[in-house]
Amino acid sequence: MADSTDSKIILITGASSGIGAATARRLAADGHHVVLGARRVDRLAALVDELRAAGGAADHHELDVTSRDSMLSFVKAAHDRHGRVDVLINNAGVMALSTLDALRVHEWEQMVEVNLLGTLYGIAAALPLMRARGTGHIINIGSTAAYRVDATAAVYCATKYAVRALTEGLRQESRDVRVTLVSPGYTHSELTEHGGSPEVRAAAHAAAQELGMPASAVADAIAYAIAQPDSVDVNDITMRSTVQG
Ligand code: NDP
Repeated sequence: MADSTDSKIILITGASSGIGAATARRLAADGHHVVLGARRVDRLAALVDELRAAGGAADHHELDVTSRDSMLSFVKAAHDRHGRVDVLINNAGVMALSTLDALRVHEWEQMVEVNLLGTLYGIAAALPLMRARGTGHIINIGSTAAYRVDATAAVYCATKYAVRALTEGLRQESRDVRVTLVSPGYTHSELTEHGGSPEVRAAAHAAAQELGMPASAVADAIAYAIAQPDSVDVNDITMRSTVQG
């Protein structure tokens, strides 16, 4: 069985920007082989080139986490190529902020499909492989929105509360596979650049710029959880920039 000093095969969803890309950089620098998934494959290819030029090991695969088939193909391709999947980081996410009475129902569906169903599809694809080996690590990216509800964020919070609940349930069911929830506060990324009511999005973007942590801080927390020995499961990491309060 691998110990914490071994190079691991680590799959990252939503690796084309923000926290996922920062995590790829950190874990590749730590000597792991990272497999990057997202829809924008041009971004993934450029990041793979960057990581390899720095001496890292990386490859990429197109991934839409809202499709169970796409997720299965992402995980299977990595397993076929490397013979194992040591860690899956379910990071892909979207946040479209608006009041419920704005009825942006398509965005509600998108948040449920990406944040919640995408995480479940990742578990469905990787867990059987990890159970068969008797080892593995699933890391889900939650949020401080998994602990506190704010106006305009009801649906986003609902998806993150749900991710927190299913992560805890998976942890309780697992004696072989490690399970970690990483819940950041405001973090510099592209999250507030898409979706939601324009005025709410602008306010959230300004707050994230002013109060946010660098995405590398979240990557460091993820690297910490992975670096523990297989016998130690870091369950929850909640983190904010100091100035967020
Ligand atoms: P970004 O917008 O920078 O990154 C989001 C990533 O998700 C992108 O790589 C995007 O790739 C991917 N993604 C979106 N939809 C899909 C899809 N259908 N299939 C595959 N990948 C998809 O935001 P962050 O880095 O901030 O977000 C990462 C995670 O961190 C999310 O789960 C978010 O909720 C969480 N988070 C972020 C916080 C913040 O303040 N930034 C705070 C707390 C949690 P592509 O478009 O190429 O498919």
